[in-house]
Amino acid sequence: MIVRDFIFWLSTKKNVTDAIARRGIKHGFALRFIAGEQLDAAIRACQELNREGRRISLNHLGENVTTVEEATKVKDGYIEMVRELDRCAMDGNISVKLTQLGLDVKPGGRELCQQLTEEILTAAAGLRRDIEIDMEGSPYTDATLDIFEAVRRRRENVALAIQAYLYRTEKDVERLAPLHPKIRLVKGAYREPKSIAFQKKQDVDANYCRLLDKLLDGRFVAAIATHDAAMLDHARKRIAERSVAQDKYEFQMIYGIRRDLQQEVRGQGHPLRIYVPYGTEWCPYFMRRLSERPANCWFVLKNLMVETFGSNGRKR
Ligand SMILES: Cc1cc2nc3c(=O)[nH]c(=O)nc-3n(C[C@H](O)[C@H](O)[C@H](O)COP(=O)(O)OP(=O)(O)OC[C@H]3O[C@@H](n4cnc5c(N)ncnc54)[C@H](O)[C@@H]3O)c2cc1C
Repeated sequence: MIVRDFIFWLSTKKNVTDAIARRGIKHGFALRFIAGEQLDAAIRACQELNREGRRISLNHLGENVTTVEEATKVKDGYIEMVRELDRCAMDGNISVKLTQLGLDVKPGGRELCQQLTEEILTAAAGLRRDIEIDMEGSPYTDATLDIFEAVRRRRENVALAIQAYLYRTEKDVERLAPLHPKIRLVKGAYREPKSIAFQKKQDVDANYCRLLDKLLDGRFVAAIATHDAAMLDHARKRIAERSVAQDKYEFQMIYGIRRDLQQEVRGQGHPLRIYVPYGTEWCPYFMRRLSERPANCWFVLKNLMVETFGSNGRKR
């Protein structure tokens, strides 16, 4: 836990992330979890996944934008991405973070963010495409739910991620049920205090299963986003017991993580979507993935050592 917390803490330090970012693409280790820094590289990765029968959700990495100009630029970029997905006839959608779309801008961030989100949704609806809203740290939970609720009342082509580690999530699910939305269930990737979130894996897992049972009760479209074999087993059991139709659920996993499980789920004929991140702002995302599994750090160190010293151990 201490190692996880330390890596997570480092991920919030810009001088650390900048230093890692300078090396990550050059030395190749970032490409394990990131589909590239530019859209064309990401599209190529997505086409490959589509060929393997996997849907994609493309995310342009970045968070916590602080000016109207930046947020508007991000919005234009997302509309461009949707058009590109359509032009390439991809089986996929996009995922967005609301702090990229101006939620932190002061004053008026919430209104700006809702307006930009609606603009993306309108453009996507014209192409019969949908978007998914990621859930960020707890300071943004209320605003994210409010904005989702407001835009979902007007547009059907929007889904939302919710986090099983938060005590509040069961109530949030009930609040959203009348909208019959698509909900992506995740465990939660941020560090949250015990006043608001389960800390033990077994408690998070138990809540994940409880929430999943609700999401598969017919009122929602469930996106089951996890690499945890026990959660996958629970989901497959419920789907079989309740004969859940394939348009009412999908599994979701992250690009580069547990490719064995991705293959297994797809091989069993379940719909699977891969979350594909790309862009130059990849370091905080990359470090959250490291903090989830500190063993990944060895993979990074090994790459750096081989690049620096060569496989024979001599410094280059
Ligand atoms: C499609 C998708 C979208 C997501 N969107 C959000 C979001 O919007 N907001 C949010 O807070 N979180 C999001 N997450 C992240 C999520 O909250 C978890 O942090 C992450 O998925 C790890 O949890 P897990 O369910 O895989 O289970 P865990 O119990 O963490 O892991 C189970 C097993 O999966 C494997 N594994 C998990 N993570 C890694 C890793 N980084 N590297 C290698 N192996 C790993 C390991 O084998 C591990 O034993 C998303 C996850 C997915 C799959």
